[in-house]
Amino acid sequence: MDVLVSTDLRRRIRLLQWLVGSVVYIGAGLLMYSGIADGWMHASDLAAWSVFVAVSHLAAYFALRSGWSERLADPALTQWQIATGVIAVDWGYLICGPMRTVALFPLLLIFAFGAFSLHWRRILALTAFAVLTLALTVAAREAGMVQRQWPQFESLPIDRGNFLMVLVLLPALSFIAARLSVLRSTLHRQKRALAQALAEVQRLATCDELTGLPNRRSMMERLAQAQADMRDGGAGFCVAVIDLDDFKQVNDRLGHAQGDELLRAFAREASGLLRGSDQLGRWGGEEFLLLLHGVEPGDARRVVERLQQQAATVDAATGPLRFSAGLARYRPGENVLDTVARADQAMYAAKRAGRNAVRIDPSATLVSEALASISDSER
Ligand code: GH3
Ligand code: MG
Ligand code: MG
Repeated sequence: MDVLVSTDLRRRIRLLQWLVGSVVYIGAGLLMYSGIADGWMHASDLAAWSVFVAVSHLAAYFALRSGWSERLADPALTQWQIATGVIAVDWGYLICGPMRTVALFPLLLIFAFGAFSLHWRRILALTAFAVLTLALTVAAREAGMVQRQWPQFESLPIDRGNFLMVLVLLPALSFIAARLSVLRSTLHRQKRALAQALAEVQRLATCDELTGLPNRRSMMERLAQAQADMRDGGAGFCVAVIDLDDFKQVNDRLGHAQGDELLRAFAREASGLLRGSDQLGRWGGEEFLLLLHGVEPGDARRVVERLQQQAATVDAATGPLRFSAGLARYRPGENVLDTVARADQAMYAAKRAGRNAVRIDPSATLVSEALASISDSER
Protein backbone atom coordinates (compact mmCIF):
# COMPACT_ATOMS: atom_id res chain seq x y z
CA MET A 1 0.00 0.00 0.00
CA ASP A 2 2.87 2.38 0.86
CA VAL A 3 4.49 1.76 -2.54
CA LEU A 4 1.18 2.34 -4.31
CA VAL A 5 0.03 5.50 -2.51
CA SER A 6 3.36 6.66 -0.95
CA THR A 7 4.02 7.56 2.68
CA ASP A 8 3.94 11.33 2.15
CA LEU A 9 0.69 12.35 3.87
CA ARG A 10 -0.56 14.91 1.32
CA ARG A 11 0.37 12.72 -1.63
CA ARG A 12 -1.29 9.78 0.07
CA ILE A 13 -4.61 11.62 0.47
CA ARG A 14 -4.54 12.64 -3.22
CA LEU A 15 -3.71 9.11 -4.34
CA LEU A 16 -6.43 7.60 -2.14
CA GLN A 17 -8.96 9.93 -3.82
CA TRP A 18 -7.55 8.78 -7.16
CA LEU A 19 -8.07 5.20 -5.99
CA VAL A 20 -11.77 5.88 -5.31
CA GLY A 21 -12.03 7.12 -8.92
CA SER A 22 -10.32 3.92 -10.10
CA VAL A 23 -12.85 1.75 -8.28
CA VAL A 24 -15.72 3.62 -9.98
CA TYR A 25 -14.08 3.31 -13.43
CA ILE A 26 -13.49 -0.42 -12.93
CA GLY A 27 -17.09 -0.90 -11.75
CA ALA A 28 -18.42 1.03 -14.75
CA GLY A 29 -16.11 -0.94 -17.09
CA LEU A 30 -17.37 -4.27 -15.69
CA LEU A 31 -20.99 -3.17 -16.06
CA MET A 32 -20.33 -2.20 -19.68
CA TYR A 33 -18.51 -5.49 -20.23
CA SER A 34 -21.59 -7.39 -19.08
CA GLY A 35 -23.48 -5.37 -21.69
CA ILE A 36 -21.58 -7.14 -24.47
CA ALA A 37 -23.18 -10.47 -23.52
CA ASP A 38 -26.56 -8.76 -22.93
CA GLY A 39 -26.38 -7.25 -26.38
CA TRP A 40 -26.39 -3.54 -25.58
CA MET A 41 -22.62 -2.88 -25.83
CA HIS A 42 -20.13 -3.30 -28.64
CA ALA A 43 -16.73 -4.69 -27.69
CA SER A 44 -14.95 -2.20 -29.96
CA ASP A 45 -16.78 0.78 -28.33
CA LEU A 46 -15.88 -0.49 -24.86
CA ALA A 47 -12.24 -1.03 -25.90
CA ALA A 48 -11.89 2.54 -27.20
CA TRP A 49 -13.56 3.95 -24.05
CA SER A 50 -11.31 1.82 -21.83
CA VAL A 51 -8.16 3.02 -23.58
CA PHE A 52 -9.22 6.66 -23.04
CA VAL A 53 -10.01 6.05 -19.36
CA ALA A 54 -6.84 4.03 -18.72
CA VAL A 55 -4.52 6.55 -20.39
CA SER A 56 -6.03 9.68 -18.80
CA HIS A 57 -6.42 8.09 -15.35
CA LEU A 58 -2.98 6.45 -15.31
CA ALA A 59 -1.40 9.73 -16.45
CA ALA A 60 -2.97 11.33 -13.37
CA TYR A 61 -1.59 8.52 -11.19
CA PHE A 62 2.00 8.94 -12.36
CA ALA A 63 1.82 12.73 -12.08
CA LEU A 64 0.49 12.41 -8.50
CA ARG A 65 2.73 9.54 -7.37
CA SER A 66 5.96 11.06 -8.69
CA GLY A 67 5.18 14.45 -7.11
CA TRP A 68 5.29 16.13 -10.55
CA SER A 69 1.79 17.56 -10.00
CA GLU A 70 3.04 19.48 -6.95
CA ARG A 71 4.47 22.18 -9.22
CA LEU A 72 0.95 22.93 -10.51
CA ALA A 73 -1.67 25.28 -9.06
CA ASP A 74 -3.95 22.23 -8.70
CA PRO A 75 -1.55 19.64 -7.21
CA ALA A 76 -4.32 17.06 -6.61
CA LEU A 77 -5.16 17.26 -10.37
CA THR A 78 -8.80 17.59 -9.35
CA GLN A 79 -9.72 19.64 -12.43
CA TRP A 80 -8.01 17.18 -14.77
CA GLN A 81 -9.72 14.23 -13.11
CA ILE A 82 -13.14 15.93 -13.11
CA ALA A 83 -12.80 17.00 -16.77
CA THR A 84 -11.69 13.53 -17.95
CA GLY A 85 -14.43 12.00 -15.77
CA VAL A 86 -17.05 14.20 -17.47
CA ILE A 87 -15.73 13.17 -20.90
CA ALA A 88 -15.84 9.48 -19.87
CA VAL A 89 -19.49 9.97 -18.80
CA ASP A 90 -20.42 11.68 -22.10
CA TRP A 91 -18.63 8.98 -24.06
CA GLY A 92 -20.40 6.31 -22.01
CA TYR A 93 -23.70 8.05 -22.79
CA LEU A 94 -22.99 7.71 -26.51
CA ILE A 95 -22.08 4.01 -26.46
CA CYS A 96 -24.37 2.53 -23.79
CA GLY A 97 -27.48 2.44 -25.99
CA PRO A 98 -30.52 1.57 -23.88
CA MET A 99 -28.45 1.72 -20.66
CA ARG A 100 -27.20 5.27 -21.30
CA THR A 101 -29.15 6.80 -18.41
CA VAL A 102 -27.05 4.75 -15.98
CA ALA A 103 -23.90 6.33 -17.45
CA LEU A 104 -24.92 9.67 -15.89
CA PHE A 105 -24.86 8.51 -12.26
CA PRO A 106 -21.08 8.93 -11.76
CA LEU A 107 -21.47 12.69 -12.43
CA LEU A 108 -22.75 13.01 -8.85
CA LEU A 109 -19.55 11.50 -7.40
CA ILE A 110 -17.31 13.45 -9.76
CA PHE A 111 -18.63 16.78 -8.49
CA ALA A 112 -18.49 15.77 -4.85
CA PHE A 113 -14.69 15.55 -5.34
CA GLY A 114 -14.47 19.20 -6.33
CA ALA A 115 -15.69 20.30 -2.92
CA PHE A 116 -12.49 19.02 -1.31
CA SER A 117 -9.96 21.12 -3.12
CA LEU A 118 -11.42 23.49 -5.72
CA HIS A 119 -12.35 27.14 -5.47
CA TRP A 120 -16.09 27.64 -6.03
CA ARG A 121 -15.43 29.49 -9.31
CA ARG A 122 -13.66 26.41 -10.70
CA ILE A 123 -16.54 24.21 -9.57
CA LEU A 124 -18.99 26.46 -11.42
CA ALA A 125 -16.80 26.42 -14.56
CA LEU A 126 -16.61 22.61 -14.49
CA THR A 127 -20.39 22.41 -14.00
CA ALA A 128 -20.89 24.55 -17.08
CA PHE A 129 -18.44 22.30 -18.94
CA ALA A 130 -20.39 19.17 -17.89
CA VAL A 131 -23.79 20.61 -18.86
CA LEU A 132 -22.49 21.89 -22.18
CA THR A 133 -20.72 18.68 -23.20
CA LEU A 134 -23.80 16.64 -22.24
CA ALA A 135 -25.96 18.95 -24.36
CA LEU A 136 -23.58 18.35 -27.30
CA THR A 137 -23.64 14.59 -26.66
CA VAL A 138 -27.45 14.50 -26.65
CA ALA A 139 -27.52 16.72 -29.74
CA ALA A 140 -25.06 14.36 -31.46
CA ARG A 141 -27.37 11.45 -30.73
CA GLU A 142 -30.41 13.32 -31.96
CA ALA A 143 -28.57 14.42 -35.09
CA GLY A 144 -28.02 10.73 -35.89
CA MET A 145 -24.26 10.97 -35.54
CA VAL A 146 -24.28 7.76 -33.48
CA GLN A 147 -25.17 4.42 -34.94
CA ARG A 148 -28.67 3.45 -33.86
CA GLN A 149 -28.37 -0.28 -33.25
CA TRP A 150 -31.29 -0.42 -30.87
CA PRO A 151 -33.98 1.60 -32.58
CA GLN A 152 -36.57 0.35 -30.12
CA PHE A 153 -34.68 2.17 -27.30
CA GLU A 154 -34.02 5.36 -29.17
CA SER A 155 -36.32 8.02 -27.85
CA LEU A 156 -35.98 11.77 -27.75
CA PRO A 157 -37.99 12.05 -24.49
CA ILE A 158 -35.43 9.85 -22.68
CA ASP A 159 -32.50 12.04 -23.77
CA ARG A 160 -34.42 15.24 -23.10
CA GLY A 161 -35.45 13.96 -19.66
CA ASN A 162 -31.90 12.94 -18.82
CA PHE A 163 -30.49 16.26 -19.93
CA LEU A 164 -33.08 18.31 -18.03
CA MET A 165 -32.50 16.26 -14.88
CA VAL A 166 -28.75 16.83 -15.11
CA LEU A 167 -29.38 20.51 -15.84
CA VAL A 168 -31.30 20.80 -12.56
CA LEU A 169 -29.30 18.41 -10.42
CA LEU A 170 -25.74 19.33 -11.32
CA PRO A 171 -25.94 23.05 -10.52
CA ALA A 172 -27.69 22.17 -7.25
CA LEU A 173 -24.93 19.71 -6.38
CA SER A 174 -22.29 22.21 -7.42
CA PHE A 175 -23.91 24.82 -5.23
CA ILE A 176 -23.47 22.51 -2.24
CA ALA A 177 -19.88 21.71 -3.31
CA ALA A 178 -19.17 25.43 -3.67
CA ARG A 179 -20.61 26.10 -0.20
CA LEU A 180 -18.34 23.42 1.21
CA SER A 181 -15.42 24.93 -0.66
CA VAL A 182 -16.10 28.37 0.88
CA LEU A 183 -16.44 26.82 4.34
CA ARG A 184 -13.16 24.99 3.79
CA SER A 185 -11.29 28.20 2.92
CA THR A 186 -12.85 29.99 5.92
CA LEU A 187 -11.71 27.14 8.13
CA HIS A 188 -8.18 27.33 6.68
CA ARG A 189 -8.06 31.08 7.28
CA GLN A 190 -9.32 30.71 10.84
CA LYS A 191 -6.83 27.93 11.51
CA ARG A 192 -3.94 30.12 10.34
CA ALA A 193 -5.16 33.08 12.43
CA LEU A 194 -5.54 30.80 15.45
CA ALA A 195 -2.02 29.41 15.04
CA GLN A 196 -0.66 32.97 14.83
CA ALA A 197 -2.62 34.03 17.90
CA LEU A 198 -1.44 30.96 19.79
CA ALA A 199 2.20 31.69 18.90
CA GLU A 200 1.73 35.28 20.09
CA VAL A 201 0.09 34.16 23.35
CA GLN A 202 2.93 31.72 23.87
CA ARG A 203 5.47 34.49 23.25
CA LEU A 204 3.66 36.85 25.64
CA ALA A 205 3.36 34.15 28.28
CA THR A 206 7.04 33.24 28.25
CA CYS A 207 8.81 36.43 27.21
CA ASP A 208 9.60 39.49 29.31
CA GLU A 209 8.24 42.47 27.41
CA LEU A 210 10.90 44.98 28.46
CA THR A 211 14.08 42.98 27.86
CA GLY A 212 12.91 40.23 25.51
CA LEU A 213 14.45 37.65 27.87
CA PRO A 214 12.52 34.62 29.11
CA ASN A 215 10.26 35.74 31.98
CA ARG A 216 9.93 34.25 35.44
CA ARG A 217 7.28 31.72 34.34
CA SER A 218 9.51 30.55 31.49
CA MET A 219 12.55 30.30 33.80
CA MET A 220 10.47 28.21 36.23
CA GLU A 221 9.74 25.81 33.38
CA ARG A 222 13.42 25.68 32.41
CA LEU A 223 14.41 24.98 36.01
CA ALA A 224 11.86 22.16 36.25
CA GLN A 225 13.16 20.79 32.94
CA ALA A 226 16.79 20.89 34.16
CA GLN A 227 15.68 19.11 37.34
CA ALA A 228 13.86 16.42 35.32
CA ASP A 229 16.86 16.02 32.98
CA MET A 230 19.16 15.45 35.92
CA ARG A 231 16.77 12.87 37.40
CA ASP A 232 16.98 11.07 34.04
CA GLY A 233 20.76 10.93 34.27
CA GLY A 234 21.54 14.30 32.67
CA ALA A 235 24.24 16.74 33.80
CA GLY A 236 23.95 18.83 36.96
CA PHE A 237 23.36 22.59 36.92
CA CYS A 238 23.93 25.79 38.84
CA VAL A 239 21.70 28.84 39.27
CA ALA A 240 22.86 32.41 39.77
CA VAL A 241 20.66 35.21 41.12
CA ILE A 242 21.90 38.53 39.72
CA ASP A 243 20.70 41.82 41.24
CA LEU A 244 21.78 45.17 39.81
CA ASP A 245 23.46 47.37 42.40
CA ASP A 246 21.92 50.62 43.61
CA PHE A 247 19.41 50.62 40.83
CA LYS A 248 17.07 52.85 42.78
CA GLN A 249 19.73 55.58 42.62
CA VAL A 250 20.12 55.02 38.88
CA ASN A 251 16.39 55.54 38.46
CA ASP A 252 16.42 58.59 40.72
CA ARG A 253 19.23 60.22 38.75
CA LEU A 254 18.34 59.25 35.21
CA GLY A 255 14.63 58.70 35.37
CA HIS A 256 12.61 55.53 34.97
CA ALA A 257 12.76 55.47 31.17
CA GLN A 258 16.55 55.57 31.18
CA GLY A 259 16.49 52.88 33.90
CA ASP A 260 14.42 50.72 31.55
CA GLU A 261 16.99 51.32 28.80
CA LEU A 262 19.76 50.14 31.15
CA LEU A 263 17.83 46.94 31.93
CA ARG A 264 17.59 46.35 28.16
CA ALA A 265 21.29 47.08 27.69
CA PHE A 266 22.20 44.60 30.42
CA ALA A 267 20.03 41.90 28.81
CA ARG A 268 21.64 42.61 25.41
CA GLU A 269 25.23 42.52 26.67
CA ALA A 270 24.68 39.40 28.78
CA SER A 271 22.90 37.50 25.98
CA GLY A 272 25.77 38.28 23.62
CA LEU A 273 28.26 36.78 26.02
CA LEU A 274 26.55 33.58 27.16
CA ARG A 275 26.80 30.13 25.57
CA GLY A 276 23.69 28.79 23.84
CA SER A 277 23.12 26.31 26.67
CA ASP A 278 23.17 28.98 29.42
CA GLN A 279 19.80 30.56 30.00
CA LEU A 280 19.31 34.05 31.35
CA GLY A 281 15.84 35.26 32.35
CA ARG A 282 14.31 38.27 34.05
CA TRP A 283 13.30 37.07 37.50
CA GLY A 284 11.63 40.36 38.48
CA GLY A 285 12.46 44.10 38.69
CA GLU A 286 16.24 44.51 38.37
CA GLU A 287 16.85 40.88 39.26
CA PHE A 288 17.91 38.22 36.75
CA LEU A 289 18.27 34.46 37.00
CA LEU A 290 21.00 32.57 35.17
CA LEU A 291 20.74 28.82 34.64
CA LEU A 292 24.06 27.15 33.81
CA HIS A 293 23.97 23.56 32.64
CA GLY A 294 26.71 21.01 33.23
CA VAL A 295 29.04 23.24 35.25
CA GLU A 296 30.41 23.21 38.78
CA PRO A 297 30.08 26.36 40.97
CA GLY A 298 33.70 27.34 40.29
CA ASP A 299 33.16 27.45 36.51
CA ALA A 300 29.79 29.12 37.00
CA ARG A 301 31.50 31.81 39.05
CA ARG A 302 33.91 32.55 36.20
CA VAL A 303 30.97 32.92 33.80
CA VAL A 304 29.26 35.37 36.18
CA GLU A 305 32.50 37.33 36.63
CA ARG A 306 32.85 37.65 32.84
CA LEU A 307 29.27 38.93 32.85
CA GLN A 308 30.27 41.52 35.46
CA GLN A 309 33.10 42.75 33.22
CA GLN A 310 30.73 42.97 30.27
CA ALA A 311 28.06 44.83 32.30
CA ALA A 312 30.71 47.29 33.43
CA THR A 313 31.07 48.44 29.81
CA VAL A 314 27.55 49.91 30.13
CA ASP A 315 27.53 53.47 31.45
CA ALA A 316 24.92 53.86 34.19
CA ALA A 317 25.60 57.59 34.79
CA THR A 318 26.37 56.90 38.46
CA GLY A 319 29.31 54.83 37.13
CA PRO A 320 29.59 51.54 35.28
CA LEU A 321 26.63 49.15 35.56
CA ARG A 322 27.36 46.77 38.41
CA PHE A 323 25.61 43.84 40.01
CA SER A 324 25.90 41.40 42.88
CA ALA A 325 25.33 37.70 42.33
CA GLY A 326 24.78 34.58 44.39
CA LEU A 327 25.43 31.07 43.08
CA ALA A 328 24.09 27.69 44.14
CA ARG A 329 24.51 24.22 42.72
CA TYR A 330 21.38 22.08 42.44
CA ARG A 331 21.38 19.21 44.90
CA PRO A 332 19.77 16.00 43.61
CA GLY A 333 16.33 15.52 45.15
CA GLU A 334 16.07 19.15 46.25
CA ASN A 335 13.13 21.40 45.33
CA VAL A 336 14.60 23.66 42.69
CA LEU A 337 13.09 26.75 44.36
CA ASP A 338 15.23 25.95 47.41
CA THR A 339 18.28 26.10 45.14
CA VAL A 340 17.15 29.56 44.00
CA ALA A 341 16.58 30.57 47.65
CA ARG A 342 20.14 29.51 48.49
CA ALA A 343 21.47 31.51 45.53
CA ASP A 344 19.39 34.47 46.76
CA GLN A 345 20.95 34.20 50.22
CA ALA A 346 24.40 34.15 48.64
CA MET A 347 23.47 37.24 46.59
CA TYR A 348 22.48 39.09 49.79
CA ALA A 349 25.82 38.06 51.31
CA ALA A 350 27.52 39.66 48.27
CA LYS A 351 25.47 42.85 48.86
CA ARG A 352 26.48 42.92 52.52
CA ALA A 353 30.10 42.43 51.52
CA GLY A 354 29.99 45.75 49.65
CA ARG A 355 28.25 44.88 46.33
CA ASN A 356 29.77 44.28 42.86
CA ALA A 357 30.66 40.79 44.08
CA VAL A 358 29.86 37.11 43.46
CA ARG A 359 29.29 34.64 46.30
CA ILE A 360 28.75 30.90 46.19
CA ASP A 361 26.16 29.45 48.58
CA PRO A 362 28.30 28.57 51.64
CA SER A 363 26.20 25.49 52.46
CA ALA A 364 27.53 23.95 49.25
CA THR A 365 30.59 22.71 51.05
CA LEU A 366 32.42 19.65 49.95
CA VAL A 367 31.04 17.67 52.91
CA SER A 368 27.39 18.45 52.24
CA GLU A 369 27.87 17.87 48.51
CA ALA A 370 29.46 14.51 49.25
CA LEU A 371 26.61 13.59 51.62
CA ALA A 372 24.06 14.58 49.01
CA SER A 373 25.71 12.46 46.35
CA ILE A 374 26.00 9.44 48.70
CA SER A 375 22.34 9.59 49.68
CA ASP A 376 21.48 10.05 45.99
CA SER A 377 23.39 6.95 44.89
CA GLU A 378 21.73 4.97 47.70
CA ARG A 379 18.37 6.07 46.37
P1 GH3 B 1 20.66 47.06 45.90
O1 GH3 B 1 22.04 47.33 45.43
O2 GH3 B 1 20.57 46.80 47.34
O3 GH3 B 1 19.99 46.03 45.09
O4 GH3 B 1 19.90 48.43 45.66
P2 GH3 B 1 18.75 48.70 44.68
O5 GH3 B 1 18.49 50.15 44.65
O6 GH3 B 1 19.03 48.08 43.39
O7 GH3 B 1 17.60 47.88 45.35
P3 GH3 B 1 16.12 48.20 45.67
O8 GH3 B 1 15.44 46.89 45.84
O9 GH3 B 1 16.04 49.17 46.83
O10 GH3 B 1 15.54 48.93 44.41
C1 GH3 B 1 15.35 48.27 43.21
C2 GH3 B 1 15.00 49.32 42.21
O11 GH3 B 1 14.84 48.77 40.93
C3 GH3 B 1 13.71 50.02 42.56
C4 GH3 B 1 12.89 49.98 41.32
O12 GH3 B 1 12.37 51.23 41.00
C5 GH3 B 1 13.87 49.54 40.28
N1 GH3 B 1 13.21 48.80 39.27
C6 GH3 B 1 12.61 47.59 39.39
N2 GH3 B 1 12.05 47.23 38.23
C7 GH3 B 1 12.29 48.23 37.33
C8 GH3 B 1 11.94 48.45 35.99
O13 GH3 B 1 11.29 47.65 35.32
N3 GH3 B 1 12.37 49.59 35.39
C9 GH3 B 1 13.10 50.52 36.08
N4 GH3 B 1 13.49 51.61 35.46
N5 GH3 B 1 13.40 50.36 37.36
C10 GH3 B 1 13.02 49.23 38.01
MG1 MG C 1 16.40 43.78 43.89
MG1 MG D 1 19.25 45.97 43.21
